[in-house]
Amino acid sequence: MSGRIIKVSGPLVVAEGLPEANMADVVRVGKQQLIGEILNMTGDKASIQVYEETSGLGPGAEVETTGMPLSVELGPGLLENIYDGIQRPLEGIMAIAGETIARGVSVPALDREKKWTFTPTVAVGDEVVGGSVIGTVEETTALLHKIMVPPNISGRISYVRGGDFTVEETVAKVTTARGEDVSISLMQKWPVRVGRPYNQKFTPEKPLGSGQRIIDTFFPLAKGGTAAVPGPFGSGKTVVQHQLAKWADVDVVVYIGCGERGNEMTDVLNEFPELKDPRSGESLMKRTVLIANTSDMPVAAREASIYTGITIAEYYRDMGYDVAILADSTSRWAEALREMSGRLEEMPGEEGYPAYLSSRLAQFYERAGCVECIGGDGRKGSLTAIGAVSPPGGDISEPVSQATMRIVKVFWGLDSALAYARHFPAINWLNSYSLYLHGLRSWYDDNVSPAFMKCRDKAMAMLQSEAELQEIVKLVGMDSLSAGDRLTLETAKMIREDFLQQNAFVDYDQYFPFDMQCSLLQLILRFDELARVAIARGVEMQDLLDIPAKEKIGRAKALPVETYAQECEAIMDQMAVEIEALAGGEEQ
Ligand code: ADP
Repeated sequence: MSGRIIKVSGPLVVAEGLPEANMADVVRVGKQQLIGEILNMTGDKASIQVYEETSGLGPGAEVETTGMPLSVELGPGLLENIYDGIQRPLEGIMAIAGETIARGVSVPALDREKKWTFTPTVAVGDEVVGGSVIGTVEETTALLHKIMVPPNISGRISYVRGGDFTVEETVAKVTTARGEDVSISLMQKWPVRVGRPYNQKFTPEKPLGSGQRIIDTFFPLAKGGTAAVPGPFGSGKTVVQHQLAKWADVDVVVYIGCGERGNEMTDVLNEFPELKDPRSGESLMKRTVLIANTSDMPVAAREASIYTGITIAEYYRDMGYDVAILADSTSRWAEALREMSGRLEEMPGEEGYPAYLSSRLAQFYERAGCVECIGGDGRKGSLTAIGAVSPPGGDISEPVSQATMRIVKVFWGLDSALAYARHFPAINWLNSYSLYLHGLRSWYDDNVSPAFMKCRDKAMAMLQSEAELQEIVKLVGMDSLSAGDRLTLETAKMIREDFLQQNAFVDYDQYFPFDMQCSLLQLILRFDELARVAIARGVEMQDLLDIPAKEKIGRAKALPVETYAQECEAIMDQMAVEIEALAGGEEQ
């Protein structure tokens, strides 16, 4: 069944003569067989979003529908791979077409030749349902890939074999209740715009450890939660996303470079293979899938990349893993949505974005969560979604930021003033928030230390007082403050400089586990406690600030991991002795 193009407008193509096509079908456009997707149908006219450059296409060219929705291939081989927005492997394309991405190239997402060693975990006669694990494949040294029965199939295993297979070969057969034999291979397909099924969702209750102090201690994200990182250009969104992709304690990371500058994606591509996962010692790529849709690639593919990414992430979640998806940036994605909407001549909403902007954003973030997977064995998986937002001019009153803030539960607001002052990560502690904080407290109490969250609250209160006191200082000067208030300012400064600031490019500082975060914060607050008593006993502030132990706190970030707790204890003891000496001297 083929139709003809009647109009081309950038990535939008309108074709007629496709009465049987359906909305969301994938179509092949023109001589070059460009890949497109039907956005809507009126009569036999289809509006098609084309995922490749449409120059050279004109009215009369042929359009053919494949009758299938836009789908991704799911199976071993996804990890360590780099895809474009419609899951074409960049390396595979390069092998065929050279450096520039040629149009209409069709390369399967998963290697058809590579053999994987499949180890069955079921036997003939076993009952299985959609999601049941029938065996495993060691996809990379960092991840055991579970081969699952596709969601809509159930029955009895009538055949299963271990050994080396390509992704298309049959490894098992299921006889359904109706007596049909369904072949199962290592690969399954899933339409990207439909969320994969799960049994039920839970409230997230474990934190996603990121090794970033301001995040883990002050504004923690839960595994299965949603977060946004808005910030103006140059404020450090990409660095925050990279840090999370590197250090988040999850099993799989899907990183979508969506419409950002090409050289940032190059950084990821160059850097990731060399980085080691602090937990397994393996290369980080072994647990990462990259989706690259840089600013020079077709705008429509950007729109698809978010869905491609989240579907892959859901697939690993279904295996019972913790997965994180990072989208940099959702603003570029929304711009792609706006461009298509404009060309479709839809009624524009705020700032030209389509009225369905917020529902589309919600659909993306809703696919995150902590779930009981299908498959009948009660395994749980989580999918955490983190999106960068780049509001033009850093003004978060614009529609994409506002719509995102209504959906996500964690907000790490980046601040250009902090970035300008080289305070990194430039997350503003006064306007950021995490709605998971309350729910995660008991986890922190049980797994890090009951002191941790208490210190966190105290430190946060101190930072808030600092902001108020600074206002007073601006109005009436430092002299008007009491000695206690001046100490608050000093302690808050220590919290900012010695705790919140974290350099992503220094080995010892880029990753900081929970217990070390707790020790460091305790150290700073202990100084405050002792100093407050000493001041009451008449010790001069400057003398307190000059003690050698305080300088050691400033350098505590660099202490070795193995002896961190002991060294912090030692500084604490030294501090007590030095402050006591000052106070004792004062009283004589
Ligand atoms: P954005 O993506 O918001 O435009 P980037 O993430 O590229 O901004 O950050 C801009 C610059 O800020 C980086 O090149 C880096 O020099 C600096 N920077 C950001 N975060 C950190 C950090 N945690 N540690 C050190 N430098 C940082």
